[in-house]
Amino acid sequence: MSDFTPTERTQVKRLPKRGKYERETVFAILDAGFVCHVGFIVDGQPYVIPTNYGRSGDTVYLHGSAASRMLRTLSEGVPMSVTVTHVDGLVLARSVFEHAVNYRSAMIFGTPRLVTDRDEKLAGLRSLTEHIAPGQWDYARRPNKKELAKTSLLALSLDEASVKIRTGPPDDGDSPDAALEVWAGVLPLAAAWQAPDPDPVLPAGIPLPPHIAALAGRPASIPRT
Ligand SMILES: Cc1cc2nc3c(=O)[nH]c(=O)nc-3n(C[C@H](O)[C@H](O)[C@H](O)COP(=O)(O)OP(=O)(O)OC[C@H]3O[C@@H](n4cnc5c(N)ncnc54)[C@H](O)[C@@H]3O)c2cc1C
Repeated sequence: MSDFTPTERTQVKRLPKRGKYERETVFAILDAGFVCHVGFIVDGQPYVIPTNYGRSGDTVYLHGSAASRMLRTLSEGVPMSVTVTHVDGLVLARSVFEHAVNYRSAMIFGTPRLVTDRDEKLAGLRSLTEHIAPGQWDYARRPNKKELAKTSLLALSLDEASVKIRTGPPDDGDSPDAALEVWAGVLPLAAAWQAPDPDPVLPAGIPLPPHIAALAGRPASIPRT
């Protein structure tokens, strides 16, 4: 598995020691989440849109209504950037200046491709569904012809990507501020899946599927498969 080569765009310049380009590190951050922010420009106006994604191999899939401006614009070969962020804690320093956040984030650049082949589209939607809610593609009803036509699927090849990671305590432990009587440290943050909440109109007797039951209580920002 070859690593990403830093490019003019992806070379981390600010605090470069936090930059990473190992493919497995990029994949781990993508696989730990399912919400990204998509940046693109329409008529000189930048937009940043939160949306779901899935990864399969070296491809990131994005989907949505064929009527969405984001999907329509990006289908036309417009360059985009995609970011995925996980916040792991607040870094509380002695000085306000040194406060920070512990995080893992990935940034991808590229020009997506509209997937039009039916089999490829189904496979891509399967990857996206399984990335977000593993087990649901085989459990829930799959898209019919009409639903498929209403859905656009974009494939973004993972060619140009960077990761930035901050871990550890505040940076002012060895500064003159260390003498201050100010508590300093990290307040960790971890989202976790909660107990499933059945649809109030769900008929009695439909059991919770094991693949969903298994998620309850588990941390949300780690890979689930
Ligand atoms: C949750 C969170 C909170 C943050 N809060 C702040 C803040 O308050 N103030 C602040 O200045 N910065 C913050 N950062 C860091 C911020 O994301 C940038 O890395 C930083 O601002 C430097 O920006 P720049 O344009 O100078 O980056 P440069 O180093 O010039 O960026 C060059 C290239 O490095 C890569 N890169 C840069 N940042 C990231 C990243 N975060 N993830 C993946 N690749 C990256 C990209 O490929 C980018 O094109 C935060 C990051 C996260 C994840």
